[in-house]
Amino acid sequence: MVQVVWFKKDFRTLDHAPLHAASLAGDVLPLYVVEPSIWNFGDLSVRHYQFVKESLTDLNVRLKKLGASLYVMVSDMVEALDRLYEILGPFVMHSHMEHGLTHTYERDRAVKAWMDAHECVWREYQGDAVLRGKYVGHRPTYMKTYLKSPVIPVPKSIQGVKRSDKTLGNVDLLDTFTPPGSPADAPVRGGESEAIKHANAFFQSRFKAYQISISKPAKSIHSSSYLSAYLTWGNISIKSLHKATENHLKTLKETQQTFYKKQLSAFHTRLFWRSHFVEKVEMKPWIDHISKDPRYDDVRHRDSDAFKKFTTGHTGFPFVDACIRFLNRTSWLNFRQRAMLTSFACNTLLLDWKDVGRFLATQWIDYEPGIHWSQIQMQAGLIPPRHIPIYDVIKQSKETDPDGAFIRMNVPELAHLNADDIHEPWTLDSNPYIAPMVDYATVLKASKETLYQIKKEPKRKPYV
Ligand SMILES: Cc1cc2nc3c(=O)[nH]c(=O)nc-3n(C[C@H](O)[C@H](O)[C@H](O)COP(=O)(O)OP(=O)(O)OC[C@H]3O[C@@H](n4cnc5c(N)ncnc54)[C@H](O)[C@@H]3O)c2cc1C
Repeated sequence: MVQVVWFKKDFRTLDHAPLHAASLAGDVLPLYVVEPSIWNFGDLSVRHYQFVKESLTDLNVRLKKLGASLYVMVSDMVEALDRLYEILGPFVMHSHMEHGLTHTYERDRAVKAWMDAHECVWREYQGDAVLRGKYVGHRPTYMKTYLKSPVIPVPKSIQGVKRSDKTLGNVDLLDTFTPPGSPADAPVRGGESEAIKHANAFFQSRFKAYQISISKPAKSIHSSSYLSAYLTWGNISIKSLHKATENHLKTLKETQQTFYKKQLSAFHTRLFWRSHFVEKVEMKPWIDHISKDPRYDDVRHRDSDAFKKFTTGHTGFPFVDACIRFLNRTSWLNFRQRAMLTSFACNTLLLDWKDVGRFLATQWIDYEPGIHWSQIQMQAGLIPPRHIPIYDVIKQSKETDPDGAFIRMNVPELAHLNADDIHEPWTLDSNPYIAPMVDYATVLKASKETLYQIKKEPKRKPYV
């Protein structure tokens, strides 16, 4: 039987268990299916698609060197399986487990039902340090055990399937589909080769200022790893990255470079956080549309004018606008900036957290449902218990961008202002910028009072 390898969000050849197993089992048909219902769901955009296209082009080059080519289909998955069956008869399909929202679980359930009904075998492999289903045992131990397991080598060679059919296209077919959204001017490029380049650059020097610059908008551009998109789309495996980090940490320890070791340890910790958050959608695949705290369900609203000002970076608050414009141009922001934007939109403007979350998901290239929706709900104060994170955007601006370099870089209208004036241009005799969309102090105070008043009400469980 032909061994189909279904690439989902794992566009690489190293540490790819499904590809490795298939290469040992027989003739291999590497496959990517562009599923319109997944791409048009509302949380993905042309930005992600461009990244995926680059990843698949790179993957195809790598597969060809090993003896196989990548096939592409544009259709929903069950329909794709029907066509495969017509061409191949019964087949074995290998893929990584996907950790996603309700609609991708439903797609996977439909695939399983189809495979069972057609007496085809679907082998799913673990691709992250994530426990499927209910917790069994001690999760941190489980996570570490997985991460310590060996990295699976690139197959020595792959016997590509001989037969083909015109319903199975090659990577050129990717150009026939266009998802919604607008492309970024300066995005990170996708692909395993790019992931390796970024990882090398990080371990060589970027990491040296990792932690001290993590929340600084202009500096973090040069010290963050920028590896999140490569992890999201599986250009690099979490296991390989953990191992590479551990090796570098060992060298730093041996050479007693304590300061640098601290920087890299902070990065290492975040890799654990990643798996912890990815796991959230295993238990709560509904977190993109059901609030964890329904007490706040009625307080946030849809305001298309405010939403437009926020999403285009025309709020009149220089730092907020700089963050949004940078995001729209590059598809990336550091953690603090993401948290502040979410809080500003959900806790100051009181915009609907689902709309805000969906917009941000389509913009950042590393959109990973488990991390993303947990953070959106957390920053909107819906995941208890401690506090509702309300960031003062003026304070953030002065603290994290004291000389205004990041604002100047992204809001050219303010490039001529000095550090004293750039954070609050409305305090000048003549404001050279758009007027703030709201009276900040008044709205911030009112929203805070509203949210904290609700927090005093008796707790309620999510309506799942
Ligand atoms: C509202 C909001 C939404 C977010 N959505 C996403 C998302 O969709 N995808 C995503 O990868 N990250 C998300 N993050 C977390 C974080 O902001 C990004 O991982 C980080 O900015 C990516 O840049 P980097 O790769 O240079 O990260 P680094 O700082 O170099 O971190 C290394 C890796 O650790 C992981 N990581 C870092 N911070 C976190 C965190 N707080 N929680 C879980 N994992 C983390 C990421 O995989 C990241 O690539 C979100 C944060 C907020 C506040």
